[in-house]
Amino acid sequence: MSIFDRIEKLLLRAEIGKPLGRGEIIELLKMPGDCVPELLATADRVRRNDVGNEIHLRGIIEFSNFCERDCLYCGLRRANERLERYRMSDEEILAAAEDVKAAGIATVVLQSGEDAFYDVSKICLLVERIKKETDLVVTLSLGERPPADYRAFLDAGVNRYLLKHETASPELYKYLRPGCRLDRRVTCLKTLKELGFETGAGNMVGLPGQTHEILADDLLLMRLIDADMLGIGPFIPHPDTPLAGIGNDDIELTLRVIALARLITRNTNIPATTALASLHPQGRLLALQAGANVVMPDFTPEPFKRRYDIYPGRADVGPAATIIAGLEKDFRSIGRTVGTGAGNRPAKTNSGTVH
Ligand code: SAM
Ligand code: SF4
Repeated sequence: MSIFDRIEKLLLRAEIGKPLGRGEIIELLKMPGDCVPELLATADRVRRNDVGNEIHLRGIIEFSNFCERDCLYCGLRRANERLERYRMSDEEILAAAEDVKAAGIATVVLQSGEDAFYDVSKICLLVERIKKETDLVVTLSLGERPPADYRAFLDAGVNRYLLKHETASPELYKYLRPGCRLDRRVTCLKTLKELGFETGAGNMVGLPGQTHEILADDLLLMRLIDADMLGIGPFIPHPDTPLAGIGNDDIELTLRVIALARLITRNTNIPATTALASLHPQGRLLALQAGANVVMPDFTPEPFKRRYDIYPGRADVGPAATIIAGLEKDFRSIGRTVGTGAGNRPAKTNSGTVH
């Protein structure tokens, strides 16, 4: 059987929901570039079948760039003394949440570095105010916290929690996140899932030392923990980090991982990440045609937005209203519409497997 016949057979099986094994996932990650359009098209059909044509918007507010961690890849790392740090006040965060609501978006995502200044009671009070004043669906992305904090967040009304596992290789994880361990991250994800949050995992693609085998393990981990949301984006080197200058302009591998994530997890919510849009002018639209169904416009007000400098060249500078008008136009150009409603993960898959 030729390689092309073999790939066609694998994709046919994946499309109807037959689970892919680790070896098959690796084959698809490594297959010749000529076969990639068929992989992306297959994932696009599964996306349409399982989560529909709507693209759900989530307004993100990056409310603090202080971080106690030292992740080698991230511009917010504690050791980066060139970064001008900020914390938004409750009033500023609330005003930004009002902007999300006014834009007709149902979900707000509150993200920050791991910043103990925002202890559990501060976050809970803030969330309670946001819920009361806007009734938005609230997603938190604050990093690792003790189970009691997660429980309190849930009681305060938080609906979803994003905690990318970053990489499924314990060795690479330990190297990239000094003082941290993958098993602890996975335990947090399991706790979040058990508590009943819609839970987001995900990885970076193109990390130094990452192999196709590790990427396959990322995808299998997403399936294993039954993540509801998957943040999959390219690693982009930041000049003020130890990984400065490590090249990664290969968005095709990220698109392969997004497409495989769709084939493997079926009805999850998968954002076309800002990192992809930052690396390639068509990055977001390409991801939306390769299995993604969510976009997260940035509602962090200036001058804070510029200082949330995770990686250079972040897309979407300018006022949120202008950004959203541009997004809607882009969505129309590929025959898609902006989602209405909360955009939760559907309870069931339409194409027979997993969830
Ligand atoms: N501190 C929280 C955490 O680490 O989970 C949330 C904020 S952190 C900035 C959000 C995400 O940014 C991380 O999950 C990571 O995948 C991504 N990120 C950080 N540095 C990056 C880089 N250089 N390129 C691409 N993504 C990056
Ligand atoms: Fe901090 Fe998150 Fe950046 Fe790591 S990825 S340095 S935890 S903000």
